[in-house]
Amino acid sequence: MPARPFIVHVALQTPSHSGVGDLLSYASERPLAPGTLVRVPLGAREVLGVVWDADEATGELPEGATMRAIAGVLDGVAPLDLPWRRLVAFAARYYQRALGEVALAALPPQLRDLKPEQLARRLRRPATAVGDNSNAIQNIALTAEQESARARIAAGKGPFLLFGSTGSGKTEVYLRCVQEILEADKGDGFPAQALVMVPEINLTPQLEERFVGRFAPRFGPGAVVSLHSGMTNPQRLKSWLAAHCGSARIVLGTRMAVFASLPGLQLIVVDEEHDPSYKQQEGARYSARDLAIWRGREQGAKVLLGSATPSLESWHASRPPTPEDPEGGRYVRLHMPSRIGAGALARVRRVNMNQQPRRTVFSAPLLQAITERVARGEQSMILLNRRGYAPVLHCVDCGWKSDCPHCSAHQVFHKTDRTLRCHHCGFTVRVPHHCPSCGSPDIHPMGRGTEQLEEQLGALLRNVQRPAGEPARIARIDADTTKAKGALEAQLAQVHSGEVDVLVGTQMIAKGHDFRRITLVAAVQPDGALFSSDFRAPERLFALLMQAAGRAGRDAAYMAAQGTQCEMWVQSFHPQHAVFEALRTHDYPAFAAQQLKEREEAAMPPFSYQALVRADARTQEVAQGFLSAATAAAHAAGLPGIDLVTLFPPVPLTIQRVANVERAQMLMESPSRAALQRFLAAWQPVLQTTRSQPEHKGLIRWLVDVDPLSI
Ligand code: ADP
Ligand code: ZN
Ligand code: ZN
Repeated sequence: MPARPFIVHVALQTPSHSGVGDLLSYASERPLAPGTLVRVPLGAREVLGVVWDADEATGELPEGATMRAIAGVLDGVAPLDLPWRRLVAFAARYYQRALGEVALAALPPQLRDLKPEQLARRLRRPATAVGDNSNAIQNIALTAEQESARARIAAGKGPFLLFGSTGSGKTEVYLRCVQEILEADKGDGFPAQALVMVPEINLTPQLEERFVGRFAPRFGPGAVVSLHSGMTNPQRLKSWLAAHCGSARIVLGTRMAVFASLPGLQLIVVDEEHDPSYKQQEGARYSARDLAIWRGREQGAKVLLGSATPSLESWHASRPPTPEDPEGGRYVRLHMPSRIGAGALARVRRVNMNQQPRRTVFSAPLLQAITERVARGEQSMILLNRRGYAPVLHCVDCGWKSDCPHCSAHQVFHKTDRTLRCHHCGFTVRVPHHCPSCGSPDIHPMGRGTEQLEEQLGALLRNVQRPAGEPARIARIDADTTKAKGALEAQLAQVHSGEVDVLVGTQMIAKGHDFRRITLVAAVQPDGALFSSDFRAPERLFALLMQAAGRAGRDAAYMAAQGTQCEMWVQSFHPQHAVFEALRTHDYPAFAAQQLKEREEAAMPPFSYQALVRADARTQEVAQGFLSAATAAAHAAGLPGIDLVTLFPPVPLTIQRVANVERAQMLMESPSRAALQRFLAAWQPVLQTTRSQPEHKGLIRWLVDVDPLSI
């Protein structure tokens, strides 16, 4: 180390509540550019860090000062660029987390463990074969609606909201937009790149196939990479490095991909933008969709959100100008109402369950419709958003219920493996033969889950025959049947190849899958969501049912050959509910207008901004006491922004105890996002101080959720 080394400020992951600031300073023999990956000592360990901030990052150490030295520099990896660092800094600030935590979480995990020499070896591996530039991309002719959307995206600045029915060809528009930015690249700068996000891991293979098929011949097989948590650490590192150095031109991924290093980023696509999976539910609770919008604007990349049932936030942000609202929203709304190559949208049939015999699971007309389809060799899909056999087991004699001893929730009865399982903490016991409380053998399941539905359908369709006389084949897909790696793919393949007549499952089967022979979809018990305390529940139910309906009748030629009509069945005790009315007419705009009117009247998002503070403790008193004390301290201090923020009293969470931890939360609401942000930033240190007071010793943790999706 020279006598006067350089000082660098490094972002790294410090143990939580260590009280260490966001950046730590180290001495370096040479000046290091911001964004450089380094290994530094932290306590007794050596950890990965990122040299931060251009202005203050370097400077000479004053005479006589001492400082720990950088342990190594990952020279093989180019420094992370300013747009990436700005994105991380923004996310940390906005979601109220430490910069180092967000920065390190945004990097592939394996990067933390590799020594510079090991990384250098990995980078020396031969690059994958490049494509041929003379290979023209095989395009299909766009429909008029697709062409109009494409042209407006090409000519405009965005952000764009592509509002297109299921099967309207949105993915084809994404492909074309990606192609345009790649082909416009003159090769004189960092290679042009696109980021395409989907909500679920299990939707990536399908998408990857389409993108590789389209772009690999021209740009090489390494041009398309994936990034999601289902990949191994070495795979993730490989994809990440490919995106960082520019050999990957297209990154497909789940929400985590929004943080990929993409120096050449020109386009971000967020498919199914309404999907709640875009919101991270632990650590920095970021919305990948919202960060995509921010990143696009900062980095000069176009942003394209797509959905058949947009979030009300995006729908509102894309409202067209009117005389009363001459500005309109910030987004450009593009509409593709027609389905391509598909039949008409499913006809919606509602069954009034008040007119059915008590305890009916499958109403007679629905059963009839399923039976007819099995006999014709068509497929049906039955949706129930609850796995297991029954949500609770109970004793007829004493009223005992299978409550989880650790949570304020029931243990779910799983018949297949004869267990009672808590879906919140995982606590599992064997099903008792007698009531644990009074010894009675008269214990029964109450309510139903997918396992029971599968069993009952089996009994009901026992004598129903397929066209060639074989019995009906029923399959179930949910989190229980797909635990093993590759299980979901195998089960989906069975459905695609026609080995299944009736598919029973949770919301997992409603999303995105391109089933060709499904002509009937049924939601047998969707009412639960109608009366939820969560104001977003109707929006979510509507999106789920529209998605599910979109699985039916995807192949017009098949439908014509069968001479059949596709149907979406809803069994409900409230068949006239606005959600089902709108579903019947497939009228998302009407549904959105009605919901937005209610939200505006109640000053709820998108007409206000929210944040939550949650507290976990051994008792509700401690959890709520902490929140009340921190609120009182905020009022007493007159924190900035507080005059524009409403702080609601602390309440227990709907499921208030999980794994013996009591949970409470309090909601904050403001008409001004900036005021809420100012307030939250000022409140952080107050929360810290409150926590350290002796009367709140029993507090386990607290966390902030900005723009929470469920309240
Ligand atoms: P979405 O993403 O809106 O659900 P897709 O892009 O998956 O719709 O398109 C639905 C189906 O229509 C796919 O099988 C796709 O290959 C096909 N398709 C899309 N665009 C066209 C087109 N212009 N001409 C013919 N088929 C198309
Ligand atoms: Zn009993
Ligand atoms: Zn439990």
